Amino acid sequence: MPRREDDAAPHVPMRMCVICRERRHKATLSRHVKDEQGNLIIDATMTRPGRGWYVCDRPECLTRFAKFRPGARRKGGKNV
Ligand SMILES: [Zn+2]
Repeated sequence: MPRREDDAAPHVPMRMCVICRERRHKATLSRHVKDEQGNLIIDATMTRPGRGWYVCDRPECLTRFAKFRPGARRKGGKNV
């Protein structure tokens, strides 16, 4: 796949904040995963299996992320 990130060091992993959608270094983001109850919990070790959601360290993103509901089930398919 072609790479278009000439402005970033190629070896630094980048992740997108799910709130502001800004791409940041992985080190400045926190990873969250769902626990068995479907609650988002912080993945302090960054190694939990499954889907992860990254949030940057901005206070407003962290606040908004508290209300973030990933994977909300869409009944009936396309209703966006
Ligand atoms: Zn953010």
